[in-house]
Amino acid sequence: MEFRPTIGLETHVQLATATKLFCGCANRFGDAPNTLVCPVCTGQPGVLPVLNRQALELGIRAALALDAELAPFTKFDRKHYFYPDLPKGFQISQFDLPFAHGGGIRLDDGTFVRLRRIHLEEDAGKGIHDRGDSTLVDLNRAGVPLLEIVTEPDVHSSEQAYDYLTKLKERLRFAGISECDMEKGSLRCDVNVSIHPVGQDGFGTRCEIKNLNSFAMVRRALEYEIARQTQLLESGGRVVQETRTWRDAEGRTETMRSKEEAQDYRYFPEPDLPPLTIDAQLIAAIRTQLPESADTRRARYQAMGLNSEELQTLTLDRASGDWFESLAKACGEAKAAAVWTCGEVNRLRNERNCSFSDLPITPAQVASVIALAKSGRASVSAARQVFNALVASPSKTADSLLNELGLEQVSDTGAIEAAVAEVLAANEKAVAEYRAGKEKAAGSLMGQVMKKMGGRANPAIVQEALKRLLAGG
Ligand code: ADP
Ligand code: MG
Ligand code: ZN
Repeated sequence: MEFRPTIGLETHVQLATATKLFCGCANRFGDAPNTLVCPVCTGQPGVLPVLNRQALELGIRAALALDAELAPFTKFDRKHYFYPDLPKGFQISQFDLPFAHGGGIRLDDGTFVRLRRIHLEEDAGKGIHDRGDSTLVDLNRAGVPLLEIVTEPDVHSSEQAYDYLTKLKERLRFAGISECDMEKGSLRCDVNVSIHPVGQDGFGTRCEIKNLNSFAMVRRALEYEIARQTQLLESGGRVVQETRTWRDAEGRTETMRSKEEAQDYRYFPEPDLPPLTIDAQLIAAIRTQLPESADTRRARYQAMGLNSEELQTLTLDRASGDWFESLAKACGEAKAAAVWTCGEVNRLRNERNCSFSDLPITPAQVASVIALAKSGRASVSAARQVFNALVASPSKTADSLLNELGLEQVSDTGAIEAAVAEVLAANEKAVAEYRAGKEKAAGSLMGQVMKKMGGRANPAIVQEALKRLLAGG
């Protein structure tokens, strides 16, 4: 029997706000444990949450970036569970009235993955488990705003799941919602997967897989789980609904808790936060400020004549395209700007392992290097050397560095002709061969002229002079 997998994804994304969802503590990764805390996010008695307006606005922006529809009326609910990293004993989330629903993402293969719901909630703290037999708790993350994005069961392979996550991340990053960095935990994802016989209506019993720390891990876990469920059904068994954990080192999933152990969250409306009506005017205002999407950018760059490799590099993130556009403006030529941004500048970025926004050289400086090449004062390789020198001495100018390095290209026709004449006189045999029709002989003559001029002669002028003198002119 042939089976068809069905997958639904639940993704949590931390919003890039300045402060937490219900208090004024900083929302920042990497600080010393328990330094970004206050009575509200540590769950002291008698405190009151206040909704962070920036979080709400970023949430609305995310919903718009995902083509979702905003609910006119939304509220918060308490979701109860007991865990050491949850100081209040409940999480403020949204249950029956999420703030957005619908929308979705079109995959490369044309499949449209619909979104079931998008809601806002607060993150929990973090347990630190690497201290022998004790567990420490860091509450810096407690109360950080999260967006939960849940799909309909529209995904049917591990590749589609990978593609969905890649595109979701791109949408959210370009809209400035979140860094979506799985390593820092600002994007986390659980997957639900079931299989059912092809041709049969309805879905099979699903398992939920947790502890997936990269998109590649999601793909591996899904492949394993689809194979496990297939084997189970083929051998006459049945899938039980449960939560499983992915053990990456062993390459398998394992039961975490069964449905019987599923928690009763005892949801009820959060009494300390008033329900919200989301104003149409606010939505309209956020819509007009929605940053350009990666897709729109790609189309615009393609129309500028950039190739697919350049499109890819320049839409890796928003900063790379922004950098390219500043350079294009400064040097007045999109193609040259793309070649330099994707070439030397991107190489430097890789070397420094930094973002385009943290580069030690500005678009204006690179534009001055491009100008040297364009005017013929520097060869392409000399311009690259000037670029590197400029990175090392950013207070100097491209012009002065060209001089200092003695790289100025010789375009003086008289000097070049003299060198060509000397080379021709010293190579009678090659000259005779060329004149007898062996055009390849010109290559070695060209090399000798370039060498004689220390590699600094303008190659176009050398070539032209060589041709003319060989022709006897
Ligand atoms: P819960 O609230 O219990 O987590 P939901 O019904 O909201 O469950 O579904 C969670 C996720 O599981 C959604 O992404 C949904 O599309 C997906 N899902 C639901 N049923 C199935 C199924 N039979 N197989 C695979 N995924 C499913
Ligand atoms: Mg769920
Ligand atoms: Zn706080």
